[in-house]
Amino acid sequence: MTELAGELLERIRSRAPGYDRENRFFTEDLDDLRAAGYLAPQSLADAVSNQRLLARHAPATALGVNMHHVVVGVARVLHDRGDSSLDWILDDAARGELFAFGNSEAGNDEVMFDSRTTASPGPDGSFTFTGTKIFTSLSPAWTRLGVFGRDDSNPGSPTLVHGYLTRETRGHRAVGEWNPLGMRATQSFTTELSMAPVPRERIARILPIGPSADPYIFGIFSNFLLLIGAVYAGIADRALELGVEAARSRTSMKHDGRTYADDPDIRWQLADAAIALDSLAPQLSALANDVDNRVDHGSEWFRLLVGAKTRAVDVTRGVVDTAIRVSGGRSYDADSELSRLYRDSLAGLFHPSDPESAHSTVATSLLGPIGNPG
Ligand SMILES: Cc1cc2nc3c(=O)[nH]c(=O)nc-3n(C[C@H](O)[C@H](O)[C@H](O)COP(=O)(O)OP(=O)(O)OC[C@H]3O[C@@H](n4cnc5c(N)ncnc54)[C@H](O)[C@@H]3O)c2cc1C
Repeated sequence: MTELAGELLERIRSRAPGYDRENRFFTEDLDDLRAAGYLAPQSLADAVSNQRLLARHAPATALGVNMHHVVVGVARVLHDRGDSSLDWILDDAARGELFAFGNSEAGNDEVMFDSRTTASPGPDGSFTFTGTKIFTSLSPAWTRLGVFGRDDSNPGSPTLVHGYLTRETRGHRAVGEWNPLGMRATQSFTTELSMAPVPRERIARILPIGPSADPYIFGIFSNFLLLIGAVYAGIADRALELGVEAARSRTSMKHDGRTYADDPDIRWQLADAAIALDSLAPQLSALANDVDNRVDHGSEWFRLLVGAKTRAVDVTRGVVDTAIRVSGGRSYDADSELSRLYRDSLAGLFHPSDPESAHSTVATSLLGPIGNPG
């Protein structure tokens, strides 16, 4: 397991406010993490616990690096199931290459099941990709970019083509503005692809349109949802820590100068937040271990995975809210750490699966599709 040293984590924490204020990429954090070997492949269980710890210190740095570990995790899922076709991703990551996840598209609520990007086949098994990907975290620094697009060259049987660009390749550029409310250091610019070529050996999958049982898709969903859950849980860990510190330091005139740590209402609120938060670690680590150990939850997998992500984000938003209430007006300062955690935690709402899609997945698991007489 790659362990993040306490001193490295403290350094990373100390830079987070500056990156946020200056709306700047976490270049120095990335240099340190790369030098520490943190980009190398890890088991999903280790990645979940490490990413949670990293997010406790610097949420945006963790969310950016998360995209790398999602891609590497997909290759590891395949490798563990006897498919070595993406082992080159594991080798590249071990050498310190940085993978980004350039899949989201404006107005594509089919998410991974269809695409507005065009994938045009070449005669030699290569493809060129043309389209616009939004929110590409790690824009200034990635060295490999995972993308997918739709190949309509065979009328009647369109396919989705997944491949990986290298930064030196022509045909890609970061465009537009990046001035979001939170997670600012991720520098998730829009990426414009214009006939960006991917050679045959870096085409990972060609799959039908729509949901797929291919392990590549399972790899994306399992790594993405659990690692996203871990990042937001890390934000909640830090918020609770700050809430406890505030309760211990704020004094009450009404109670003869004693701190709020003695106030039964404040104690109840913090305890309630901790009870909710304590439910996340077992859920995230049990599911990550199940992925690592190839436990087969069959069709229940997606219900379990979207549930874990949804719960992690919702619990985190509740814990941050409580920490802010307990801390009082000082947390409303734009430069306060809690105010940054509040802004960062909001981003959790937008990562797939969004709440509507997650609830639809779970409802279908319980009740079958709408209109199905059962
Ligand atoms: C901090 C952060 C980091 C992220 N990092 C990554 C990443 O590394 N890789 C990745 O693949 N995804 C990433 N995402 C993207 C995320 O997964 C979602 O895809 C994204 O938040 C869009 O969600 P939405 O569909 O709710 O947005 P929407 O608001 O529906 O759409 C987003 C943008 O598309 C425009 N739009 C919406 N509908 C249309 C339409 N029909 N036609 C034209 N334009 C339209 C909107 O105006 C808006 O600008 C990240 C998101 C966040 C918040």
